[in-house]
Amino acid sequence: MTRITHLECSRCGEPLSAESPQTVCPGDGGVLFVRYDLAEIKKSFRPARLAGRTPTMWRYAEVMPEAEPVTLGEGLTPMLASREFPNVYIKDEGLNPTGSFKARGMAVAVTMARYHGLRKLAVPSAGNAAGALAAYAAAAGLEAHIFMPKDVPAANRIEGEYYGAHVTLVDGLISDCARMVAQLQQKEGWFDVSTLKEPFRLEGKKTMGYEVAEQLCWKMPQGIIYPTGGGVGLIGMWKAFDEMEQMGWIGPERPQMVAVQSIGCAPIVKAWDEGKAASDSWPNAGTVAAGLRVPKAYGDYIILDILRKSGGLALAVSDEEIMDALKQWARTEGIFAAPEGAASLAAYRKLLESCFFGSDDVVVMFNTGTGLKYLDAIENRNTARRELPKSREIAGIIGPY
Ligand SMILES: [Zn+2]
Repeated sequence: MTRITHLECSRCGEPLSAESPQTVCPGDGGVLFVRYDLAEIKKSFRPARLAGRTPTMWRYAEVMPEAEPVTLGEGLTPMLASREFPNVYIKDEGLNPTGSFKARGMAVAVTMARYHGLRKLAVPSAGNAAGALAAYAAAAGLEAHIFMPKDVPAANRIEGEYYGAHVTLVDGLISDCARMVAQLQQKEGWFDVSTLKEPFRLEGKKTMGYEVAEQLCWKMPQGIIYPTGGGVGLIGMWKAFDEMEQMGWIGPERPQMVAVQSIGCAPIVKAWDEGKAASDSWPNAGTVAAGLRVPKAYGDYIILDILRKSGGLALAVSDEEIMDALKQWARTEGIFAAPEGAASLAAYRKLLESCFFGSDDVVVMFNTGTGLKYLDAIENRNTARRELPKSREIAGIIGPY
């Protein structure tokens, strides 16, 4: 892989080889970033070169791994102008294969797994990451081993089974699933593709940053509102902006990055408000937005650093505000969003009210997935109203899945 020079630890800067499968920094557990020879790449890779290329995230091939992609057509999702707010856009990730932004990361992780000759991939997941891994593993002819709490949304369990993944339903929490993967992986020869413990999922997610720039004609928006569980997309987009600046595609300007969480699980918001560099694990995490039930993001220290550098912030919204926004988007925009995505609109309303954003500011809201994968959660919410069913109160999640 000549374009990729090495992997680099985000904590200590230690370089590692990209020619063999890596997880995290062996010294300090830091998240690994894939580094490219951008000085060489910039000589021939310019925005004009993108014209006529495949309408998927693989159009940015020069800043992606040089391996035959395992693709289902992910990426280059619509950037829709809001019908309600002028100058606001909705980046609709629900149109990805498997209905969520998880497709981007898993497409690259599975591409690299096949490239490295790995055969068996495993992930603990309570949501869309499982479905995405299962689909790409099927497309690559690899084994997928998925561990889910037995009360996961039906869509995630059913699609996994249909993609031919080995789905294990665990009578416990997502933390128990993660422990089972950790215990079994060596004996079974599995490679764990958990969020940020596999460096190439970030490379898939970063393409959202390239797309924001390309779809807004290489002009950075004032703000990006991103529903933040594990926060890989936020970290990935920031990496993309740095790469684009190094290639001379954009200047030093950056959007104000906004991380939105649910008040039922808001560790990043708490750390942000307290001015801390890392978050504490959030006890008894519970929210209708399953993807935001991440009590402690593995890359929390990177997320908080980005919020600071960009002049952004972290804020929390309630489940009631999320459900209200979900309905509003559906009725005014024609978008049936995942609850996580609807949190973006709830956040934008607050930031407009507090004058953090003005109505002239160009702001991109991310919808991370389709609401169609949450029908049971949404239906439960409608019938139970304010009272959350026990099955939605998954507590003690230890990682971003
Ligand atoms: Zn390190």
